[in-house]
Amino acid sequence: MAGGGDSAVDRALALAPLAGRITLVHRRTAFRAHRAGVRAAAEAGVGIRVNTEIEAVLGGAGVDGVRLVDRTSGETEEIPCQSVIAALGFTASLGPLERWGLDIADRRIVVNSRMATSAPGIFAAGDITEYPGKVRLMSVGFGEAATAVANAAVSLDPAADLFPGHSTDDAGQLGNAQEKETGDALRDR
Ligand SMILES: Cc1cc2nc3c(=O)[nH]c(=O)nc-3n(C[C@H](O)[C@H](O)[C@H](O)COP(=O)(O)OP(=O)(O)OC[C@H]3O[C@@H](n4cnc5c(N)ncnc54)[C@H](O)[C@@H]3O)c2cc1C
Repeated sequence: MAGGGDSAVDRALALAPLAGRITLVHRRTAFRAHRAGVRAAAEAGVGIRVNTEIEAVLGGAGVDGVRLVDRTSGETEEIPCQSVIAALGFTASLGPLERWGLDIADRRIVVNSRMATSAPGIFAAGDITEYPGKVRLMSVGFGEAATAVANAAVSLDPAADLFPGHSTDDAGQLGNAQEKETGDALRDR
């Protein structure tokens, strides 16, 4: 497995119980992948080679092995294997968004704390966005989506409340006395 991000580490971890042997080859010394994932992979028996690149895939009709090269010493080593998986990430493409006139940094859309882009009325959320301190995780994206939607609503209707309310408040709107009671009790707490 070649790569140092979550794709490489997660796949190596998933394949560890199936493969007779699996080696994760990463050209840098530090991983971009989640630290817990790297630790779990090591604990699952994945061989981890850092500062190392796959210089050549060996074999004829099929794969018989790879030649690894240490990036510092230049020393090479051939190891046998049946498959090589390049989990080197992907190139994100903004496509038509590039022509929308939005501020872009490193192929990502720059937003402020309201998740507003540089173009009035256009909001963004998720991995595509960029701001100082950005953490690319699902929970962050969900939160950003709520922030973007609430702020978009206010930009459309300045009289609207930015805070959309709590879901527990909905019990009152259902007109069900018991649910309203529960909603009221939760609110009072
Ligand atoms: C291997 C890996 C493991 C991860 N593990 C975790 C984890 O354990 N926990 C965690 O919280 N996060 C994890 N993440 C991060 C998490 O996946 C992202 O933060 C999250 O998926 C971002 O959601 P998103 O909706 O912003 O973007 P995405 O999930 O990337 O969704 C964007 C969607 O837009 C589509 N798209 C792209 N261009 C266009 C276009 N021009 N037109 C239409 N559609 C388009 C794409 O196909 C894609 O479906 C992991 C990421 C990777 C790569």
